[in-house]
This record gives sequence, structure tokens and C-alpha cells, in this order.
Amino acid sequence: MKQKKVNAFYRPPSLLFRQLGSALLMGYLTGWRSFPGWLLRHGFSSMPVANGARGMGCIGYPGHPVWEVTGACNLRCIHCHATSGQAAADELSTDEGKKLIDQLAAESEFRTLIYTGGEPLVRPDIFELLRHSQKAGLANIIATNGTLIDEEMAFKLKDHGVVCNAISFDAANPSIHDMVRNKAGSFDLAMRAVVATKKAGILLQINTTAMEYNMPHLPELIDFADSSGAGILLMYQLVAVGRGEKIEKATLKKTANKYLSELISLKQKTAKTIIEPVAGPQYWPFLLEKGGIRGGLPLKLAGQVFHGCSAGRGFVYVKANGDVWPCPFVEVSGGNIRGKSFHDIYTGSTLFNDLRRREEKLKGLCGECPYKTVCGGCRGRAHAYSGDPLAEDPRCFIRERSRPAEKGLGKTIKTCSSEHPDIEAAYRDTRRRPATNPGRMRALPDEQ
Ligand code: SF4
Ligand code: SF4
Repeated sequence: MKQKKVNAFYRPPSLLFRQLGSALLMGYLTGWRSFPGWLLRHGFSSMPVANGARGMGCIGYPGHPVWEVTGACNLRCIHCHATSGQAAADELSTDEGKKLIDQLAAESEFRTLIYTGGEPLVRPDIFELLRHSQKAGLANIIATNGTLIDEEMAFKLKDHGVVCNAISFDAANPSIHDMVRNKAGSFDLAMRAVVATKKAGILLQINTTAMEYNMPHLPELIDFADSSGAGILLMYQLVAVGRGEKIEKATLKKTANKYLSELISLKQKTAKTIIEPVAGPQYWPFLLEKGGIRGGLPLKLAGQVFHGCSAGRGFVYVKANGDVWPCPFVEVSGGNIRGKSFHDIYTGSTLFNDLRRREEKLKGLCGECPYKTVCGGCRGRAHAYSGDPLAEDPRCFIRERSRPAEKGLGKTIKTCSSEHPDIEAAYRDTRRRPATNPGRMRALPDEQ
């Protein structure tokens, strides 16, 4: 296949206006004072990462594919959505992976490729794959636990077209991070990766998963990301999928979800990094309401640059075995690339088309909501609790349900303690507990 050169960041120019417009609107609504400083420090290195973005949405920059290259991992984090550990027997081979990369590069919408896992760096042929996507013109991004990145590795990654290392931290406190990561010393190794990443001139992104367990430590974590020189902080929220299903009780209920939006917007004011929520698309209507935008033309215009949930609307997640999901948290496949072309699945499957047309397709509160373009609810959470990726998001704090809970939604899962449980106890509990429900969990949507 003829190698494709990725489109320059200014093509088409409308994308640049949207990227700038989204940052300006977010900056205006949060009162972000350090935006000019951020532009000077990180603007240039962020260009390949944001290349192709149509504004802001969940997982930072909609319009990008993520490939879970392997389920193998050297850690066993308590919240891992991929339930990583050992590589599965049916993972895509090197040749199949290269074929996938070529197909992704052929989609004009995509200019980046995010490698994730498991831990992508434990895959033996990772550098062959990175080189292939680099040659195909895609900017490589690595989502990593950081434990394997020393200085030599960081420079090798840079040489293989890696423009951003997204390193996970669950707390600025080493013992809490190590507890969540299930391995002593992983914080120190991740810190080594931070230093090496900056030394190699790769953009540093920090990924965090907010859970009841680490909620009290998040303000400190945001300060830590700031002082580490991160250009981007993605604030994930625990979604009860994968190993996260075992700790469903630590997912954020409505009040905690609202608190997280408040915290992000408050911290953004003085932060030197961009903080963007993942699995918390209510942040965007929260910001707009804070700025007095609730409908009409201003909301329509905001919908040009704020996109909320990006599942299936540019964001796509290829599993290690070639299944094509709209997001790592939406555990539904549109098809497998061993049986169909990526293009056919991405453009032709009912799942992806329904998500693309969510304004007509969403159900429940999300279906009636004026914010379904700028928010759309977390489709992963909707699916985790109802089995339907188009159902309402049960943790929405923006719109209140004025009618009784729908019948047939099953049992209520006990509301998590608002006194955040001790992390060690939580960890022990995690090891003892079986999955809450090996099938789909169900909870009443009006849990607080
Ligand atoms: S009802 Fe759905 S679309 Fe509306 S704000 Fe809540 S989660 Fe978002
Ligand atoms: S499903 Fe949830 S995590 Fe995935 S893109 Fe949508 S809001 Fe984000």
C-alpha cells in the first residue's frame, strides 16, 4: 500500500480555528490565566498531538484511533479497564498490526495513533510497529505506566516518531500510587519516565483515574502534574469495566462527579497544564452553564468546539484481537478487522453510525437533553449499567430525573461511602472481592 503523508496541522484551516476556539472558550469559562504561557511552553509540541482535532471532547482530542497492542502488562492495576496481565493467544500478529496501521492511515480523519495496552512497551515488536506507523505519517503517542522508560528508551521512542508519552499517575503520593498500581516502586519508575520524557523533548501527558479512593488526593495530584511540566492532564473517571468492575463501589456517584467538574474548573484557573475530563462529559455543560450559556445560538456555537463524549465520533479503540470498539469503556464491538476492513466497520456498522447520530438516537434523559451535542453522556457508563450504549448516563448531575426510576433496571448497588475509604483497606477489599457481576451491572440511575 502506498504510504500516506499525514495532513499538515493547518489542513483544513477550519480545524485550527476550532482548536483555538475550543481552548479560548474553555479558557474564558474557567478564567484560565496561564493560557498564553501554556501556548508558549507547549503550543508547538502539542500541534502533532492535536493535529486533526475538531475542538475538545472526551479523551482530549476527538478524531483519533487507539490500539490496545497487547493485554500483557508488567503491573496489575486495580482499575485496569483492559484486565491486563498476560498476552492473549489471539492478539494481532505483527503483519496484521501493520495492515491495521495502513488502514488507519488511509482514513483522512486520523493523524495520530495512540498505542496502549496492557503496557505497550512489553510487546516484543513494538518498535517495528512504531516505525511502521511513523513511516505511514501518523504521529505516535504512547499510553504507558512509565515503568519501562529510562532515558535511553525515551530517546528511542522519540526516534520512532513518538510525540507524546501519556504516563499514568493515580496520586502524587508514592504509597497510594503503588497501592493502586499493585507494585511497590512503580511511582519512582514513573517519575524516572517523566524526567526522561522531558529530556528527550517528548510532550508529557499525565493520565489519572479518579475514584472514591483517591478523591481527597486529586488537588495535590493536579499540582503535581503542573509542577512536573505536563502539557496535558487527562482526568479519567473510573468506569466499572474490566478490573474496574470489581471496585464499582469506588466509581464516582453524581455528587462526586459534580465535585470533580468543580475541581477541574477551579484548578484550571491557575494551572499551567490543560486539564480535560475523561468519562465525565458533563464537564462541558457544567462550564457552559457556569458561563450563562444554556441554549440558543451560543449553545449551538459551543457545539462546534465542545464535543463531550467522542465514542464513535472520531474516537475508536481497536482491541488486541482486532475487535473495533467506540471507546475502551464501551465494551461493544462494531466488527473485527480480521473479517472486515477497518473502514467498513468504522463507517458502516450500526453501532458506530448510531453513536455518530446520537442527537437522534440517545434515550432517556440524554435523549431529551439540550446538551446532547456538547456532552452526550458517557456511553461506556451507560452501557455498563444498562447494557445499552445509547441509554442515559446514570451519573449525570446536570439534569435531574423528575420521574421515578424506570422499572426493570435491576438492583441498586449500594452508594459508596462519601468518607473516602482508606486506600489500603480498599486495596485489600479489591483482592478479596469477586467481580460485582460477571455480566452487566445494573444500578438505579438516581443513585447519589
Ligand atoms: S442528560 Fe445526558 S447529555 Fe444531558 S447533561 Fe446529562 S449526561 Fe449530558
Ligand atoms: S464513552 Fe465515556 S470515556 Fe468513552 S469517549 Fe465517551 S465519555 Fe469518554
